[in-house]
Amino acid sequence: MKQKEDFMREAIRLSVEKMEEGCGGPFGCVIVCNGEIVAHGYNNVLGSNDPTAHAEVEAIRKACTSMGTHQLADCELYTSCEPCPMCLGAIYWARPKKVYYANSREDAERIGFDDRFIYQELDKPKSERQIPMEQLLGDEAKEAFEKWVAR
Ligand SMILES: [Zn+2]
Repeated sequence: MKQKEDFMREAIRLSVEKMEEGCGGPFGCVIVCNGEIVAHGYNNVLGSNDPTAHAEVEAIRKACTSMGTHQLADCELYTSCEPCPMCLGAIYWARPKKVYYANSREDAERIGFDDRFIYQELDKPKSERQIPMEQLLGDEAKEAFEKWVAR
């Protein structure tokens, strides 16, 4: 029976291998369900020109596709680094039962992957963020919400 350290070592192995192949930053992830790896993910931002192709998001997409579900309730996620805000959001949407991480956010910051500014942006008024947000046509967009509630 594989131990949690075995799963994390696989995430770490991926983080090294795929970084050395030029796929992107040094980040790997595996998702485990009932003691078996159901999906691998690695940072493929450079390989796919996709800024959302982080290890955790890639692994969540693959796990959900292979298991035919949009929720990973019985799964555990092993990531070689503490998730960034985007991946943390994706993890909450996918709802695995536990997350294990190896490198910390502070470790990532020391090598140039700094998520701190995104956390700081969340605390600012929408109009004062680096990328300003402005509400537009809120009333018209409510049609879809009303139809959803009516279903
Ligand atoms: Zn991320």
